[in-house]
Amino acid sequence: MVGATLASLLSRSGFSVALVEAHEPLPFDAEAEIGLRVSAISPGSAAVLGQAGAWKSISAERCRPYRRMQVEDGVELEPLLFDAPVFNLESLGTIIENSLVQWSLWQVVSSGGQVDLYCPDMLDKIEPGQNQSRISLNSGAQLSADLVVGADGAASPVRKAIGIRQDYRSYNQHGLVAVVGKQNPNPGVAWQRFMPGGPLAFLPLADGRSSIVWTRPSIEAQRLLALDNDTFVEELDAASSGWLGRVESCGPRAAFPLSMRLSESYTAHRTVLIGDAAHVVHPLAGQGVNLGFADAAALTETLIRARLAGNDIGAASVLQYYDRWRRAESEAMAFGMHALRSLFSHDSLSPLRRIGLALVKRSWTVKDLFLQRAAGLGKNAPKLATGTTLRDLMRG
Ligand SMILES: Cc1cc2nc3c(=O)[nH]c(=O)nc-3n(C[C@H](O)[C@H](O)[C@H](O)COP(=O)(O)OP(=O)(O)OC[C@H]3O[C@@H](n4cnc5c(N)ncnc54)[C@H](O)[C@@H]3O)c2cc1C
Repeated sequence: MVGATLASLLSRSGFSVALVEAHEPLPFDAEAEIGLRVSAISPGSAAVLGQAGAWKSISAERCRPYRRMQVEDGVELEPLLFDAPVFNLESLGTIIENSLVQWSLWQVVSSGGQVDLYCPDMLDKIEPGQNQSRISLNSGAQLSADLVVGADGAASPVRKAIGIRQDYRSYNQHGLVAVVGKQNPNPGVAWQRFMPGGPLAFLPLADGRSSIVWTRPSIEAQRLLALDNDTFVEELDAASSGWLGRVESCGPRAAFPLSMRLSESYTAHRTVLIGDAAHVVHPLAGQGVNLGFADAAALTETLIRARLAGNDIGAASVLQYYDRWRRAESEAMAFGMHALRSLFSHDSLSPLRRIGLALVKRSWTVKDLFLQRAAGLGKNAPKLATGTTLRDLMRG
């Protein structure tokens, strides 16, 4: 999602771009069952995808905007509510299948001949040079580039090839996902209940069902995965009791290990990292890929500025600007999620939690700050997320 977004943004800005991808995404099939992997895409990310040329086709397909976020801790009776109109937003975000985002972006980068596609192909090695880097692919193809971007996910071979170290912490938790139908259809609310083992989220889908992300300690998640459907539904019912009535249906389940990964630097030797290659955060606020889209927009902005100033786009001074900007943002988000997770997972912290929740409920400023950042529209957001167009950026 993130690499193809950057490839499109850069090629639309007049840069010459090659994209290396191991697997071509499968065509999106709107008749097929809703996929297990979905993302809450913020308004800022939607604007970036718009500039990348993919938002129109994404938003015309199966996706669901949500106007309310409801947060509970299972103890306090009154939930914490965030309503889009209160913050002058049309929606707080849109729940979209990852496969739809990937397929729409693929359509953009593979049409028009603006991006040189190497697919299926994989990185073999990178040899950084004084003025350019040489890249060898498994197919035997050789490329040279002023700048190499690693948008190759959490295990990033690019990051390893250039020797950037990472701080890795496993949460010993898995995020269990499934498509779930409740007695009453989801009215467009992203609902989350924090519980000692981890949060349970219901995200609204286009057909009134919800996509759940149930964070549990890894052993417990394996147990939940192994349950027969009826027993799982009973346990899910108990965990989400009261909200939208009984659980009436539940599709296949899958679980993903959760970790926090922070790269020590986002740049070295004419190479830069974006998306999960640079950082992985806990999914409890649905911010992972949104940070990645903001990286893509911020890097595009950085490179356009460098070009306007006549600078080498692979120069360390140019890339350090991106590094400082995005590392500060991603680390703030990662540690914010880390702190929230700790606050809600220890019963001993419940007095602190109650005070915190009460403060957030009462303070419009705190709510506003939180929401602006979650919507991808905070004060350090890239210009492309806040309404500036590629054309405006290119005019300087
Ligand atoms: C349970 C769960 C729920 C989540 N929910 C949300 C959410 O609601 N909102 C949100 O913002 N985020 C969410 N996230 C996080 C989000 O899924 C990730 O941040 C996002 O998928 C990362 O995208 P990416 O493009 O950076 O990396 P990836 O999706 O990992 O893509 C990497 C790409 O690189 C390719 N590749 C890898 N190695 C090579 C190679 N050697 N050569 C060529 N190509 C290669 C791969 O084929 C792939 O296409 C969630 C995560 C989890 C686990």
